Amino acid sequence: MYADLHLHTRYSDGTYTPAELASEAQRHGLTAIALTDHDTVEGCAEMVEECRLRGVEFIPGCELTAQAETGTELHILAYFLDTSHAELLAELARYQAVRQERISRMVARLNELGVPLPESVVLAIAGCRAPGRPHVARALVQEGFCASSDEAFERYLKVNRPAWVPKDKMSVAQAIALIHRAGGVAVMAHPALNRCDELIPSFAGLGLDGLECFHSRHSGADSDRYRRMADRLGLLVSGGSDCHGMNKGQPLIGGVRLPYAFVERLRERHQKIVSSTHTGSHV
Ligand code: AMP
Ligand code: FE
Ligand code: FE
Ligand code: ZN
Repeated sequence: MYADLHLHTRYSDGTYTPAELASEAQRHGLTAIALTDHDTVEGCAEMVEECRLRGVEFIPGCELTAQAETGTELHILAYFLDTSHAELLAELARYQAVRQERISRMVARLNELGVPLPESVVLAIAGCRAPGRPHVARALVQEGFCASSDEAFERYLKVNRPAWVPKDKMSVAQAIALIHRAGGVAVMAHPALNRCDELIPSFAGLGLDGLECFHSRHSGADSDRYRRMADRLGLLVSGGSDCHGMNKGQPLIGGVRLPYAFVERLRERHQKIVSSTHTGSHV
C-alpha cells in the first residue's frame, strides 16, 4: 500500500482536474493521495467525491509559501486540513490576491521589456484564484514568445530574471501556527530544493511536524539524509511526486510511492493536533 502526498490540480498550477487526478491515482494503484495546491483548498471538495468513487483515500491539504528569517523561500505542506476553517480561508484569500496582483506586475514587466503579452491571456490559461509563474510561462509559449516553459523561466521568470517579481510571504512560524489552528499537520516540502538544512532544527522548534523526505527531485542520497534528519529531530516522514499534470510534458504521479505506514503516523499527529486545539493546549 502506497501514497502520494504532493499533488496539484488546475486550482493552482497543475493541469489536471480533480476527476483526472483521482483517475490517475487509481490507475497507479495508490491507496491514498493528498491534494496540495498552492494557496488554495478549493479542489478538495471535488476530490473527496472523485476519490470516493474510485476507492482512493483522500487527504485534504495545500502548499503554503513561507519565508525563513534569512529570507529563504520555502514551501510548507499542510495535511488533514479543516477546509472550512474561517481563518484559514481568509488567509488563503489574502495570498490569492497577492498572487493575482503579482501576475499584473510580471505582465507589466514583460510589456516594458518589449514582450506584448496581454494579461488576459495569462488569466485565461490560469483560470483559477491562485495563478503563478507557470501560467505566465505557458502564456509566453502559447503566444510564441518562448519555445518552452523552461525557456520562459530561464529568460524571464526565475528569481532575479527581468520579469521576476517577489511574492509577499508569511513567516514559517505563522504558516505552522495557521496550519495547526486549522487542524492540519505541517510538513516542510522538498527540503533539497530549498537548501536551508541548517535551519530545519529551528523549524522543528517552531512546531513543524514532518519533512518531505521522498520527492521527485530528491536523489536517493537526499532521501536517506532527510530520513536520518527526521529521526534525529523527531519529525514525521512524508513524500510525494509534486505532480503538476502535463505542465512539464510528463506527469509525475506514481513516480514517488510513500509506504502507507507513514500516512498512519501523519493521521495520528492530526488527531493529536485536533484534540489539543480543542482543549486549548499546545502541541
Ligand atoms: P510561483 O508560486 O508563482 O512562484 O511559482 C512557483 C512554481 O513554479 C513552482 O511550484 C513550480 O511548479 C514552478 N517553477 C519554479 N521554478 C521553475 C523553473 N525554474 N522551471 C519550471 N518551473 C518552475
Ligand atoms: Fe507549483
Ligand atoms: Fe513546492
Ligand atoms: Zn508543489
